[in-house]
Amino acid sequence: MTSQVDKSLNKIRLIDPFNRHITYLRLSVTDRCDLRCTYCMSEKMTFLSKKEVLTFEEMYKLCTGFIQLGIKKIRITGGEPLVRKGIIDFFEMLKPHLASDLEELTLTTNGTQLQKYAGQLYANGVRRINISLDTLDPEKFKRITRVGKLQDVLLGIEAARDANLKIKINCVALKNINEDEVDDFITWCIQKGYDLTFIETMPMGDIGNENRLNHFLSLEELKKNISSKFELEDISFSSGGPARYCKFRGADIKLGFITPLSHNFCSSCNRVRMDATGILHQCLGQSESVDFRKILRDPNFTNVDLLEKIGRSIKQKPEKHSFAYDFSKEAIEGQINRHMSLTGG
Ligand code: SAM
Ligand code: SF4
Repeated sequence: MTSQVDKSLNKIRLIDPFNRHITYLRLSVTDRCDLRCTYCMSEKMTFLSKKEVLTFEEMYKLCTGFIQLGIKKIRITGGEPLVRKGIIDFFEMLKPHLASDLEELTLTTNGTQLQKYAGQLYANGVRRINISLDTLDPEKFKRITRVGKLQDVLLGIEAARDANLKIKINCVALKNINEDEVDDFITWCIQKGYDLTFIETMPMGDIGNENRLNHFLSLEELKKNISSKFELEDISFSSGGPARYCKFRGADIKLGFITPLSHNFCSSCNRVRMDATGILHQCLGQSESVDFRKILRDPNFTNVDLLEKIGRSIKQKPEKHSFAYDFSKEAIEGQINRHMSLTGG
């Protein structure tokens, strides 16, 4: 009987109220990090206690449920996913799904631990990774991350390349901080063969004395600037998410722009995010959420209950985020109280 129910649930695909097919899960495995990027965290962060964070067994159960319902891509994120103890064992647990319904297992990392882990990630089925890097200047890197060493990340990136991982660099564009480095960044990525995506800073979580409004850089503006110096062609490639891509004439890398504020692309959103405590955030920029930790820790809940709850949660996905910076009023609208490091970027 159970297997029949399981089978029929298996066919359900996750479609939200706006007819968007949800095929992509981002899972934050920890809110902790070995860096303290100024736009992401405040200097003194309070982190979750161990018992608040799901175990890898609980996360595995969730991932399996989502895959049964049609999720094709899982991105492991954080905080910094590679600082969680046992992280490679977790990739090893998920790897067998790649031989059946899961098409891609990937991660977003700050790169500091890649010298240690790049080979093991490849061995566990990871083929492409996103590495966040906002500057190529060691001093600026220290200023942005408060505690990091650029060299660790650069060596980590090399290790990832040596391990045959395809690399995309994610760079948060910050006015008066790294906007003067954009050309160097592009030249470096072209030379190395890394895809590059610029991201607008989003108003998520308290960052102490830092002011996001001062450093917001519209990517519409940035793209115009880049086009005046490099020959860009728009391409139709899409990862199903908010990024829009171009190519440089004569080079083999993609250039992406994630513009949640200057240009809203929510109509093609295909993803949901599970934070490290088992709370599902159906939209990065809204506060709707569904708690899965309670049921995962309740011995009376079955896998069928889990699948039904996932299905219901997708039916509550909001249409769009409401982030906005109003420069005339010097105000931030749609600020979300949780940090990106909890939800997973
Ligand atoms: N620690 C890993 C890293 O930095 O790649 C993974 C988690 S981090 C939260 C994921 C991505 O979110 C990074 O590319 C980071 O730059 C970006 N990010 C963090 N806070 C952000 C914010 N407020 N607005 C835009 N992007 C942000
Ligand atoms: Fe850590 Fe990533 Fe946030 Fe930087 S952006 S503090 S690396 S979680």
